[in-house]
Amino acid sequence: MSKSYDVIIAGGGAAGFFTAINVASVNPKLKIAILERGKEVLSKVRVSGGGRCNVTHACFIPDDLVRFYPRGEKELRGPFNRFCSGDTIEWFEKRGVELKIEEDGRMFPVSDSSQTIIDCFLSETKKLGIHILTGESIQSLYRSDSHWKITTQNDTFLAGKLVMATGSNPKMWDMMQELGHTIVPPVPSLFTFNIKDPRIKDLMGVSALATVKVKKSKLEASGPLLITHWGMSGPGILRLSAWGARELFDKNYQFALQVNWLNDVDIEECDVLLKELKQVHAKKAVGKKSPFDFPNRLWESLVTAAGILPETKWADLTKNQLQALANQLVNGEFQVNGKSTFKEEFVTAGGVELKEVNFKTMESRRVENLYFAGEVLNIDAITGGFNFQNAWTGGFIAAESIAVVTM
Ligand SMILES: Cc1cc2nc3c(=O)[nH]c(=O)nc-3n(C[C@H](O)[C@H](O)[C@H](O)COP(=O)(O)OP(=O)(O)OC[C@H]3O[C@@H](n4cnc5c(N)ncnc54)[C@H](O)[C@@H]3O)c2cc1C
Repeated sequence: MSKSYDVIIAGGGAAGFFTAINVASVNPKLKIAILERGKEVLSKVRVSGGGRCNVTHACFIPDDLVRFYPRGEKELRGPFNRFCSGDTIEWFEKRGVELKIEEDGRMFPVSDSSQTIIDCFLSETKKLGIHILTGESIQSLYRSDSHWKITTQNDTFLAGKLVMATGSNPKMWDMMQELGHTIVPPVPSLFTFNIKDPRIKDLMGVSALATVKVKKSKLEASGPLLITHWGMSGPGILRLSAWGARELFDKNYQFALQVNWLNDVDIEECDVLLKELKQVHAKKAVGKKSPFDFPNRLWESLVTAAGILPETKWADLTKNQLQALANQLVNGEFQVNGKSTFKEEFVTAGGVELKEVNFKTMESRRVENLYFAGEVLNIDAITGGFNFQNAWTGGFIAAESIAVVTM
């Protein structure tokens, strides 16, 4: 016999739990179940943030917060005005979980353990009588006039309302497509660049503020650039990878990257700067000390790449050498050959087309009584706690509309 519920949440991840708890908190009379295919729930929360769970980001103004989302920027503006990062802090605080802010704005539980978040969710679901059914992998969905019929490999479930919180599962996207939704094809986002180049070969761990551009493209970002043993990483590179997720996929991750180690200084300004340095440091060896705000090792490598012996005196630099150095400093070109995952934090761009979702309720515009929250949608952000914030906000809004409508 089928098991009947008012609300079924497909997926026992961050978005699924947040939705279920909020529905039950507003309307305790509803019978709610979470169906999770795995043996365990919240497995991504467990490993998130290196096991510490970067819950959200200390960016409290919706218009500022949306800028961290390459996909979803426009659509999340309204939702963030209803449930933003400040609300997340309050939500967890009310349930006994205190969050702390790190220097870069990332927010973690004070315990520095993702288990605190998992414990909070499990204790809330228990208190609210939400059924958590694990080992239930959804195989098919069918909507009749009055209810959803959801089949797993073990059982059949009936529900008035269905929330899709199944993350980036291609099988579930296929099912959404069969129901009439468009799926934006998934491609990786948030990755680092593989570069083999003598200029950075022995500089692993060196970090500098730089502006990076993908040649023959409009993609550009600024921020700390970190040289790794496989190429380049750091916030600037991650921004390029997120905003350029689809374009770089189309280029098969083969492209020329232009690095300006002096950020907004252009080639003419750089020429002037170098001529001044030639005068001021005339008797000093060029490679001895970096005259710019980046490490000596990098400076020496760029000097060598410009065809200048580091021990050459500034006064002896020729016009051509100065030009070559200026080029290395502001127009350095590096060939990217492939990508690597950033700290195992694989994020996918793609999912349910946003135009087909009503962001006031998170309900499908195509299918009645079908709701979405989290990564199942074509929304993703850069690293820093923003991806979870999307899950919390979507879950909260879906829950509010489900709980109120059903009351
Ligand atoms: C290693 C790693 C670290 C991360 N760290 C952070 C971080 O610190 N901060 C941050 O903001 N973001 C982080 N992210 C991103 C973040 O984890 C995701 O954005 C977030 O988990 C999305 O939540 P979700 O509930 O939409 O999807 P998920 O967490 O993926 O949950 C979906 C659930 O649905 C279940 N499911 C799928 N298909 C079915 C089916 N057919 N039947 C039943 N159940 C199904 C899955 O098993 C899963 O439990 C990290 C990601 C990774 C991979």
